[in-house]
Amino acid sequence: MPPYGAEVGERLAGAGWALADAEKATAGICLLNADLRIVYCNGAWERQEREKSGAAASREELSGVAILDRVAEPLRPFYSRRFSEVKKQGQEWEHDYELSSAEKLRMYRLKVKRVADSYLLLESRMAREAAHGAERPAMPAVKSLYVTENGTLTMCSHCRRARCVGLGRTVWNWVPEYLSAPAGRVSQGLCRECFAHFYPEINRTPHADGLGRAAGR
Ligand SMILES: [Zn+2]
Repeated sequence: MPPYGAEVGERLAGAGWALADAEKATAGICLLNADLRIVYCNGAWERQEREKSGAAASREELSGVAILDRVAEPLRPFYSRRFSEVKKQGQEWEHDYELSSAEKLRMYRLKVKRVADSYLLLESRMAREAAHGAERPAMPAVKSLYVTENGTLTMCSHCRRARCVGLGRTVWNWVPEYLSAPAGRVSQGLCRECFAHFYPEINRTPHADGLGRAAGR
């Protein structure tokens, strides 16, 4: 465990977590300062971050990172606004999202609450886990179909499907191999289905946030 200042322990306690318990928790726990930078996260949060990006980021590396840099680009305005609301109004906010692995469909619930000095405590718990069904047939990892010339592979940050390149229309396929062994630099995107399912309030006004275009429709 990296050394944490007393203020981390105090702010976690303000959100109902003793540091020792947060360290052992199965829920991902992350503490943000008023600038929305990570000042603490536990091992479970570190694991979730690794699953999301496919790249290893240790707790030390995550420390000081702006949380919005860890969010898929099309969703940054949405999370930025929700975090600001929690900071201003002090009302807890909950949001469901998917973070599937190669083997399992996994649903998570994120809870965000305000603590002292406009710090935010994020708690992310797995709510449901099931085997992938027939609606998500596994496709082979054909590099030319998914990886751009400059070596970028775009994956939906929720369902983890990979975006086909060069088809002239946007198609996302389930390529489980890319979850264990990404074939390039992974860029976090958001597929149309996840956008509609998890962000219906934005979906009703797709252009208010400029998200419609950015979500890769
Ligand atoms: Zn998706």
